[in-house]
Amino acid sequence: MQAWVVDRPGPIDGGPLRRIERPLPAPGPRQVRVRVSCCGVCRTDLHLAEGDLPPHRPAMTPGHEVVGRVEAVGPGAGRFPVGERVGIAWLARTDGSCRFCRRGDENLCTSPLFTGWDVDGGYADACVVDERYAYPLPDTVSDEQAAPLLCAGIIGYRALRCAAVRPGGRLGIYGFGGSAHLTAQLALAQGMEVHVFTRGEQNRRLARELGADSVSAAAVPSPVPLDGAILFAPAGDLVPVALRALDRGATLAVAGIWLSAIPGLDYAAELFQERRLRSVTANTREDGTQFLRLAGRLGIAATTVGYPMAQAPAALADLAHGRFGGAAVLHN
Ligand SMILES: [Zn+2]
Ligand SMILES: [Zn+2]
Repeated sequence: MQAWVVDRPGPIDGGPLRRIERPLPAPGPRQVRVRVSCCGVCRTDLHLAEGDLPPHRPAMTPGHEVVGRVEAVGPGAGRFPVGERVGIAWLARTDGSCRFCRRGDENLCTSPLFTGWDVDGGYADACVVDERYAYPLPDTVSDEQAAPLLCAGIIGYRALRCAAVRPGGRLGIYGFGGSAHLTAQLALAQGMEVHVFTRGEQNRRLARELGADSVSAAAVPSPVPLDGAILFAPAGDLVPVALRALDRGATLAVAGIWLSAIPGLDYAAELFQERRLRSVTANTREDGTQFLRLAGRLGIAATTVGYPMAQAPAALADLAHGRFGGAAVLHN
């Protein structure tokens, strides 16, 4: 089969990915092999290709928003029959035994495996997954529409809960790409007021189309005090900007796996009055299951741009340069 691998991590325009021929992976115990239909392009893939996140293994195949059909079943696997459509997400394995797994916080597992970082992902014809970490997908959603739900959607859902805005409250969203545009729909469906701060006219247009209450440039003061905010842009210099926009006692949740340096904070203006700054780290399977059910029921729809699998590097470059609004999805 054909698979993209991160060959030499570096700037995306320098061509860090290479497409290679490798044997079809055989599913191990409790694993299934999935014939990839679509794979979403997540900013984390870009961080891995460019070396912002250090490689965990050489020649790793990225991609953790995988939609496909089960084509082979390993020993002891029985959750999904051959032919069933499944989704594969970021969390590939947890140990189930560390103090965080035992208390229900498997997103904080001390020895996790991640799809596209520790185990080969979906920028390929096929990949294998532990069936306990795969998701059934809502029937109402097409393959292309389902792909971005699997990371962008799930992480946004967790970030929204971390920002702890009550129904009807005011949510700020900083950066408006794949994850943010799904989260905004979820927040609006829960009756929140949504204020979007982002660069790029395409992103601002998409935010307006989805019904955001206000849309402005990334670093401008908020028109209203925010009851909670999520930082999706990987830009540490927006942390103080977003903290200043928070009302007393409100939380800023940082959704990304990687963030550029955060400048020094002004305690009185940016943290005092019990404002909180917290990160969002991966997700539990329960987050994924809850979000996918909600997305099906609420009709959360991703704005997608399709690319042939052969053009994975171009899709990543377009993401790096902000050349599309919404989420890119690779097709086999
Ligand atoms: Zn664990
Ligand atoms: Zn992701």
